[in-house]
Amino acid sequence: QIAAAYVVIGNPIAHSKSPDIHAHFAAETGQDMRYERLLAPLDGFVATVQEFIGQGGRGANVTVPFKLEAYALANSLTARAQAAGAVNTLKFDGGDILGDNTDGVGLVTDIAHNAGFDLAHKKILLLGAGGAARGVLLPLLERQPAQLTIANRTAAKAQQLVQQFQPYSGAGCILSACGFAEATQQYDLVINATSASLQAELPPLAASVFGPATLAYDMMYGPQPTIFMQFAASHGARVRDGLGMLVEQAAESFFIWRGVRPRTDAVFAALRAQL
Ligand code: NDP
Repeated sequence: QIAAAYVVIGNPIAHSKSPDIHAHFAAETGQDMRYERLLAPLDGFVATVQEFIGQGGRGANVTVPFKLEAYALANSLTARAQAAGAVNTLKFDGGDILGDNTDGVGLVTDIAHNAGFDLAHKKILLLGAGGAARGVLLPLLERQPAQLTIANRTAAKAQQLVQQFQPYSGAGCILSACGFAEATQQYDLVINATSASLQAELPPLAASVFGPATLAYDMMYGPQPTIFMQFAASHGARVRDGLGMLVEQAAESFFIWRGVRPRTDAVFAALRAQL
């Protein structure tokens, strides 16, 4: 019997840690599967997926720059993929291509479970209004915070997200948008979903958003604390990077494909040690 086949598709793809994570999950849960990197040409995402399905592929993770094409390719979508407008997980079942998005639930699981931070009734500041911010909004709102403020360099993009997600925001939650300079009150949770850390830049934030009870979360991760984490820590906040989000979104994809929920603590520790 041939092991069930899964891939992570992107361009570039050589850097992806997903094969290591899923190999660990497969060993831990006793699943007979293999999981590889698949480089798709920039103009050849759909053909690459179809070829993989033709070879018996059962599922795929999708990363930069193909999450929107994966959304368009799926012929059924989960509610959270629909809200995100992007797909990072495909499941192939007969002729059906299911599209899901596990980034948001990965973030929320890392914050709520691993960091022990209860999101209910909290004040949240979400920095950024790109794909990552959009992908996490529905899972965040489902945890019923008291307030969720989206701050972005281009404020109009934050306002668009507020309009789109207003129907998902519960009666007790104030959902609003602003520019960075206007966010001045103290928040319980500040999430950096901008790509500023990639260029070692800091969104121009007031230090007053942080306090000793604040959790400052950067979706980015690396061997050193990001500049955002350093700034937040210097103003008394507890800090966390996005490595746990990466591992938890993978665990959710694994669950969608295999129906088994893997443990994440050992693989998280192993990845941390390798960074
Ligand atoms: P996008 O390109 O879609 O959006 C980028 C966002 O960052 C926009 O809101 C943009 O603002 C803002 N931005 C960019 N540069 C700056 C800057 N110098 N100062 C302030 N704001 C800036 O990117 P994504 O949303 O896809 O990704 C964002 C981050 O999230 C990346 O660092 C990515 O690595 C991380 N990520 C981590 C994951 C994980 O598993 N840990 C999963 C997914 C993403 P504007 O609208 O004004 O251009």
